Amino acid sequence: MIYLDNNSTTAVDEAVVEAMTRCLRDAFGNPSSTHVAGQRSRQMLERAREQVAALIGARPREIVFTSGGTEADNLAILGTLAAHPTRRHVVLSAVEHAAVFTLCEQLEASGHRATKIAVNEAGALDMNSLVASVAPETAIVSVMLANNETGVIMDAASAAASTRAAGAVTLVDAVQAVGKMPVDVGALGADLVSLSAHKFHGPKGVGALYVRPGTRLRGQHVGGHQERDLRPGTENLVGIVGMGAAAEVAMRELASAPERMARLRDQLESAILRSIPGAVVNGGCAPRLCNTTNIALPGVEAEALIIALSEAGVCVSAGSACASGSMEPSHVLKAMGVSPTMARGSIRFSVSRQTTDAEIDSAIDEVVRAAARVARITAA
Ligand code: PLP
Repeated sequence: MIYLDNNSTTAVDEAVVEAMTRCLRDAFGNPSSTHVAGQRSRQMLERAREQVAALIGARPREIVFTSGGTEADNLAILGTLAAHPTRRHVVLSAVEHAAVFTLCEQLEASGHRATKIAVNEAGALDMNSLVASVAPETAIVSVMLANNETGVIMDAASAAASTRAAGAVTLVDAVQAVGKMPVDVGALGADLVSLSAHKFHGPKGVGALYVRPGTRLRGQHVGGHQERDLRPGTENLVGIVGMGAAAEVAMRELASAPERMARLRDQLESAILRSIPGAVVNGGCAPRLCNTTNIALPGVEAEALIIALSEAGVCVSAGSACASGSMEPSHVLKAMGVSPTMARGSIRFSVSRQTTDAEIDSAIDEVVRAAARVARITAA
């Protein structure tokens, strides 16, 4: 199998498997218990908090563990609104992940105001319109650091600076960026930053929200006092330990892996552009994550190509995994002005630090062959 769908999820690193196995065997105590069994678990929990904090230049006490990126985004937005009851306006980029985008649509339906900030055809945010949208009743502005579908990197630091100046809270969804580019919460200047372990070779179902000291935020679950009351409930210790181990490996790998991933991605991208007439890279003119390319193939139905490639042992996706299965063109490509026909023929390839040169060579052959076959069938 050639796995080129690493923005959906990544394979768990061997060091992560070992850390989680050790934790499962050795630490069954409840981290909230005062006895020695509890304290052993507490130590592992706090070690993981240090590892995750180090990856994003934060202090351990600024990390709140959650069940993943979705919960971190939800906690950030709903928790900020709950802590600022008189502010009922949210601002978001038009290309946010469903964890933000759909939540804001629901908020709108329940009487909040939501302003979506347009992006240009390269996927870059219209900063003037963001600045103009932030009003005294704005509670939170949500801008992702890197887009999951196109890999386009947004100027989240400028968005955070403008938002701060206007007195609102900023959420930066860094779920796709972490592990693929350096992420430093100090340089970003955001109040809240969300991350998810399974996007950087950690386990699924665990993530974190960075909370800048002094940020007003209300927990969305009710129960015990875990995670400073922001996320009550006995911690997913094994998952958290896995996230910590994944963060430590990711930090080490940042020195060389992004360059290698970019080389492989570029090789794949240019071979496809050379071999398939009319192929276009969505967001190709913008700064992008080192591992992602989203290519529109004219005359090809993405869903049909995905199935054909899967039969040949190559895993890719159309836009976001959440959107696949539906024939609705992705809201991200739509916001970038990609025509519905080109959007329906758009495929996302995302490599990881585990992808090899040989895999890319084989994937190129398979994609070119499968695209020609699918185009013939579509045209017939
Ligand atoms: N935010 C972004 C940008 C994502 O790409 C994803 C997952 O694809 C999420 C949030 C949700 O993360 P999780 O799968 O951990 O809930």
